[in-house]
Amino acid sequence: QKIRVGVIFGGQSGEHEVSIHSARSVMENLNSEKYDILPIGISKQGVWHVGLSSFEELGAEIPDSLRKRILVGSTAVPSENGNFLPDSSLRSVDVIIPVLHGPHGEDGTVQGLFELLDVAYVGAGVLASAVGMDKAMMKSAFAHAGLPQCKYKVYLRHHWEQNSESILSDIERELGFPCFVKPANLGSSVGISKAKDRESLILAMREAARYDRKIVVEEAVNAREIEVAVLGNDEPRASVAGEIVPKADFYDYNAKYVNGTSELIIPAELTDQKMSEVRKLALQAYRAIDGSGLSRVDFFLERETGRLLVNEINTFPGFTVYSMYPKLWEATGLSYENLLDELIGLALERHREKN
Ligand code: ADP
Ligand code: MG
Ligand code: MG
Repeated sequence: QKIRVGVIFGGQSGEHEVSIHSARSVMENLNSEKYDILPIGISKQGVWHVGLSSFEELGAEIPDSLRKRILVGSTAVPSENGNFLPDSSLRSVDVIIPVLHGPHGEDGTVQGLFELLDVAYVGAGVLASAVGMDKAMMKSAFAHAGLPQCKYKVYLRHHWEQNSESILSDIERELGFPCFVKPANLGSSVGISKAKDRESLILAMREAARYDRKIVVEEAVNAREIEVAVLGNDEPRASVAGEIVPKADFYDYNAKYVNGTSELIIPAELTDQKMSEVRKLALQAYRAIDGSGLSRVDFFLERETGRLLVNEINTFPGFTVYSMYPKLWEATGLSYENLLDELIGLALERHREKN
């Protein structure tokens, strides 16, 4: 009896396309001796499509190798008004892999649905997903755990609109230029800008305020970008660290997904001491948000001081065969296929222990 795996992909976030690529890699690497697959695609409009047709509905190609492995007979989907109805097909699988990034995917909302349906799912639970998605809450959790971070401030859009002048002076006094302005709840660098002076700061605040009611502003650090993959539930393990070398001013949306020219260096060239320090910090960050399943923890390694600062945690990082997360595990001795086995095992374990 094979394990039935529901793979959810697409979604309404800015990372719709990345998610499709990631999900295809996942489906192609799920061992066919062990798993049957039920693809579940979410369109950009938020309509859920279940089964073989889900690829076409999202305008994506279905790889031939997958055709014969797809579970059939579950096509019931609401499609008229785009509203989601908890569908029996979600309950018909043994485990779900939500290969979704950003809001309504990585932020605990869809995880809440799985909890209500009482179905096992890969990755962080509701709480860790939500904390990981909200950069302000994430930073509070890290600060509480004593983790090193860059200086930052959080502002409500409401106060920004009421009181821009005092917020601008506050930022200038506390953080200075250049600084980074981010909507609290997005990913993929959407809505993020680097401000060099008061004028560009105003534009950056307006831009971030378009996306979120909460805005995070950080001092800009001159640093290398180091990432560590974490895997596990109560006893998480950390991979070797890798380095991203963006071919842009910073690792913005284009550098991530459009140009595709950013370079991954795996393992990162670090002293043994830095390597073990960053792996230890990654585990602390993971525990600080109460992670489970997987996360990628991203760091800044300051050029002048050699200090490591935690930048963020991503509870469902990019998962294509070219992505940092699976590559880090490969370099640590765990193949993509075995990584999926482990993640599914962890999801089932977590589900068992809860019940
Ligand atoms: P996202 O969750 O969208 O990936 P990040 O906080 O990781 O957002 O920011 C995206 C990129 O912007 C980072 O990978 C880095 O290149 C740059 N960046 C963000 N914050 C800072 C900072 N404080 N100093 C220097 N660079 C930063
Ligand atoms: Mg992120
Ligand atoms: Mg990032």
